[in-house]
Amino acid sequence: MSKVKVDFSRCKGCFLCTSVCPKGVLLPSTELGAKGFEIVQIDETKECIGCGACYKMCPDYCIEVTD
Ligand code: SF4
Ligand code: SF4
Repeated sequence: MSKVKVDFSRCKGCFLCTSVCPKGVLLPSTELGAKGFEIVQIDETKECIGCGACYKMCPDYCIEVTD
């Protein structure tokens, strides 16, 4: 199963990744990250299909997708 990882310390909460995830794996959260912005969260109950859309969209290279 594909797996998405996020470097939360670098996330600036633009939520471009959440807007493109077809499975709803990535969601906005209300937690503040190291940069003081509300960051993304991973819904572990949803299945990542490894499409890579979030990886391509993130402007800060926070996301890694593995098989
Ligand atoms: S690889 Fe695709 S399915 Fe997985 S979290 Fe990213 S956008 Fe969602
Ligand atoms: S696209 Fe990158 S910086 Fe923007 S919310 Fe997603 S992980 Fe954070």
